[in-house]
Amino acid sequence: MFGLIGHSTSFEDARKTALQIGYDHLDGDLDVWCSAPPQFLEQIEVESLTGKKIEGAYIDSCFVPEMLSRFKTARRKVLNAMEMAQKRGIQISALGGFTSIIFENFNLLKHQHVRNTTLEWERFTTGNTHTAWVICRQLENNAPLLGIDLSKARVAVVGATGDIGSAVCRWLSARTGVAELLLVARQQQPLIDLQTELAGGRILSLEEALPEADVVVWVASMPRTLEIDMESLRKPCLMIDGGYPKNLDAKFAGSGVHVLKGGIVEFCNDISWDVGWIAEMDKPARQMFACFAEAMLLEFENCHTNFSWGRNQITLEKMDFIGMASLRHGFSSLNLNHQLQAAA
Ligand code: NDP
Repeated sequence: MFGLIGHSTSFEDARKTALQIGYDHLDGDLDVWCSAPPQFLEQIEVESLTGKKIEGAYIDSCFVPEMLSRFKTARRKVLNAMEMAQKRGIQISALGGFTSIIFENFNLLKHQHVRNTTLEWERFTTGNTHTAWVICRQLENNAPLLGIDLSKARVAVVGATGDIGSAVCRWLSARTGVAELLLVARQQQPLIDLQTELAGGRILSLEEALPEADVVVWVASMPRTLEIDMESLRKPCLMIDGGYPKNLDAKFAGSGVHVLKGGIVEFCNDISWDVGWIAEMDKPARQMFACFAEAMLLEFENCHTNFSWGRNQITLEKMDFIGMASLRHGFSSLNLNHQLQAAA
């Protein structure tokens, strides 16, 4: 059985959903929600393109983004949801949305004991290997549609030293023959280490990299207040918005720059579910974050292990494995034409 640990996109959405499904006791203010336990919301059945059927569950952590600044609450929400997944016997659960960010940034590895449960890390995955593979595939599929020849293109990776960013850089430099990688992050030493590992790539600030880039992969949570000089950007330019939340399309609207939601996959069949990220997808019955899909793929493949775990451990071999599984079981990466059809 696979598990998806998620959350609503906002406090307002969470309250609406709770009332719709009859959870009247959650009709309170943010403080009431802060003390709410995780909810085992529904069981899900998924059938692969191969015909294999698997069962899973969606657990809402009852975290909402408005709680991010409440460190202890955020930590408790994620750990309680993980405990629930383990106690229900779920073999592999993906930490979606902010839950994986909270896990890493608040170092929850140090909190393996939740009441009388010792969390078994092998039951959980961040889903980052599949996310990185999907972003690379989105780049390879969509840049040529805009007339961008990857063999001549400069690709900026914003968040290059992160877990997903470093995997994207490894893949792009080894597998796609892009002309040049532009490596962007704030701390210099990890950038220098990455450059050494890749034996290439140019380290630039964001302001320096953007005007040079034909493609920009955003795999950092950027501040909403980020100011970008639209005039200085190359045209055409493909922006892959791999961060969470996805907020770049509004920033670039009408500027002639093409923004693609990164790390999103579409399944071959409709799935009957009512999960927390529905509001973020154009086709909620089929589309999902690639990190969630990783838990399904590991279940399809009978691979019950913390496949994506820790930081900067994603290898090309692991990306090959999860990418092949993704295609075999009927996932496709979101492309610009899917987005255009949805907008029409
Ligand atoms: P990490 O924390 O491992 O990496 C973040 C990277 O961003 C680091 O390189 C960091 O380097 C850089 N960074 C952070 N802030 C800035 C800034 N202001 N300017 C430039 N660089 C910055 O994160 P992950 O790789 O795990 O995740 C990356 C993003 O992807 C997150 O936003 C996450 O939510 C999202 N994500 C999306 C998924 C999906 O859509 N399917 C699934 C999973 C994650 P430094 O600190 O040196 O600047």
